[in-house]
Amino acid sequence: MGAIGTTTFRNFVGGEWVEAASGETFETTNPATGEVLGTFPRSSAEDVDRAVAAANEAFADWRLVPAPKRGEVLLRFAALLTERKDELTQLMTREMGKVLAEAGGDVQEAIDMCVYMAGEGRRLYGHTTPSELRDKFNMSVRMPIGVVGAVTPWNFPIAIPSWKLAPALVCGNTVVLKPAEDTPLLAERFVEVLVEAGLPPGVVNVVHGFGEEAGAALVAHPDVPVITFTGSRDTGVAVTKAAADRLKHVHLELGGKNAIIVMDDADLDLAVDGIVWSAFGTSGQRCTAASRVIAHERVYDELSGRLVRAAEAMQVGAGWEESTDLGPVINREALERIHAYTSIGRDEGARLLTGGEPARGNGLDNGFFYRPTIFADVEPEMRIAQEEIFGPTTALIRVGSFDEAIRVANGIEFGLSSSIFTRDVNRAFRAMRDLVAGITYVNAGTTGAEVHLPFGGTKQTGNGHREAGQAALDVFTEWKSIYVDYSGKLQRAQIDNVEHPAP
Ligand code: NAD
Repeated sequence: MGAIGTTTFRNFVGGEWVEAASGETFETTNPATGEVLGTFPRSSAEDVDRAVAAANEAFADWRLVPAPKRGEVLLRFAALLTERKDELTQLMTREMGKVLAEAGGDVQEAIDMCVYMAGEGRRLYGHTTPSELRDKFNMSVRMPIGVVGAVTPWNFPIAIPSWKLAPALVCGNTVVLKPAEDTPLLAERFVEVLVEAGLPPGVVNVVHGFGEEAGAALVAHPDVPVITFTGSRDTGVAVTKAAADRLKHVHLELGGKNAIIVMDDADLDLAVDGIVWSAFGTSGQRCTAASRVIAHERVYDELSGRLVRAAEAMQVGAGWEESTDLGPVINREALERIHAYTSIGRDEGARLLTGGEPARGNGLDNGFFYRPTIFADVEPEMRIAQEEIFGPTTALIRVGSFDEAIRVANGIEFGLSSSIFTRDVNRAFRAMRDLVAGITYVNAGTTGAEVHLPFGGTKQTGNGHREAGQAALDVFTEWKSIYVDYSGKLQRAQIDNVEHPAP
């Protein structure tokens, strides 16, 4: 891997590293220091055209490579990622900002996903089923679709590309990836390693640049039948509209406003650990972050006091320092948005218990650091309890009963993750049934997905698809039903099957 700093990086198209047609560039920087880490091509529709053409050409053969062989590439990729895990972890703390343990977890998630999807190369199960006619054989099989356009965010810069590319590739599709403009260097490294694992030219292509330019061109491209997108709700809506005219398959993983319910019988020590990890981990920049805590009135005061003490003990700093609990947020715009929500919360009448301001001094002045922030006396309909803040801010809401807790938890437009702390098995099972979300945790926070389970959300978190697990295969394949008639005569379904008519 080459040096970073003043290095100029390129797109990857048809197996070649190439500059953007326009020659324009943009920089990626370290959110803890402002240091420039590299310069990347600012791609346009012309670059997207080239990448899609390369992916289309490669699809002709990649779809015919036996799926177990496609899986073997992913297995080699997983092995190489394991070798490079420390290097990628260090780089992630610098380009994206998350702390070392979490950055290592991000890389590990990609390793796990590739190992899992490599195994899928020897399954990709279809079905055989009896025919209603004699001497006829029926089966259904998964078919690859073609060129997949993958558009990814910056908050899981290695994990999320792997969630999309590993299943897309093992199913026999080719890919054009438009990574987030805040973490292009990690995407570049990701693809370098993938190529080293033995991927043929054109099977994966990378086009760097901005959403409204390269991203929009990819989404609208007529030769890209599948779009897999992770990002904000509003961009997801724009992507859906842009893809509608061609009736593309659109897979969306969008925002969340996830709640942790703490009942009066909860283990409070455990609940505090779960809340701190889920609300402030990755500086709150996880789609599954706990930005609401719904606490029973009998434990509310005790819980809020403990949470404030835990938040104030957190060390804010650069992600690569072992002592850091909370790294920077991604950029200045994010810092300003998060701080604006502090004003909104105050104006709405919520009580700021701690935080509520950027963290400064001690070498933090050139970075985008925000103190862990807790609001109390939050009403469920307030904006800070409804809108995704995507920063280290959480809102405490007081409730008087289990039913009220469920009602408040569900009273939002999103439906990604949810959690309940209780020792009552009946309540736990009711919560599993009644929380309207793609994920429910019992006696754990809202984060921590494992790659072999479906991942995604209900309501406006998505459009009914799921990432990860077997469910991901439905995004990247189409079912084909195949009928083989070996009777030697014309047999008509529903007409010639009347030997024993159904009652
Ligand atoms: P974003 O929507 O701003 O950007 C995501 C990606 O879309 C980027 O690559 C961007 O360049 C691109 N993009 C922007 N406009 C586009 C357009 N018009 N056409 C095509 N592409 C376009 O989101 P972000 O700030 O990078 O990420 C944060 C959001 O992602 C949060 O809402 C978070 O909840 C969500 N997220 C969801 C999941 C999930 O799995 N549900 C996971 C991680 C993040």
